[in-house]
Amino acid sequence: MIRPILKYGDSVLHERAQVVEVLTPEVERLIDDMIETMYAAPGAGLAAPQVGVPLRLFVVDVSVVREPKGLLIFINPEFVELDGRSLEEEGCLSVPGFNATVVRPQRVVIKGRDRHWTDQQIEGTGLLARAFQHEMDHLDGALFVDRLRGLKRDLIVRTFRKLTRAGKW
Ligand SMILES: [Zn+2]
Repeated sequence: MIRPILKYGDSVLHERAQVVEVLTPEVERLIDDMIETMYAAPGAGLAAPQVGVPLRLFVVDVSVVREPKGLLIFINPEFVELDGRSLEEEGCLSVPGFNATVVRPQRVVIKGRDRHWTDQQIEGTGLLARAFQHEMDHLDGALFVDRLRGLKRDLIVRTFRKLTRAGKW
């Protein structure tokens, strides 16, 4: 089932998500729905808070933008390593119509559980590293806009307020 994607300003997106304690049928259904919602959008990643569920869980598939990695599901992910530095344009399904250059480490290793509750550890570089970090931010209540500074951020936030007042957000 495709679930509605919350947009910047919705409180669930701005709060820290909770650890998934146990793999229940509800969590399994959530994972299936998130995968379907991500592909339908279409997007390269989706975190549970984006569909209104404050749990530490995300799905990623950067192959939609031509990197042959395929679908990855992470429950309770944690960073193991972060290094390097890269600047790339980034967008978000919860911030439709906006893109900005975000500085992030170029390589990460994250560990967590997969959809069968098995431990997994995966290294990501380039696009995959960026997707992992973007989704990890969602689990901590941060959006890419929160990583911007100065004029660029002010401009985007002012535009959100204007759109919200006009009932267009
Ligand atoms: Zn996002």
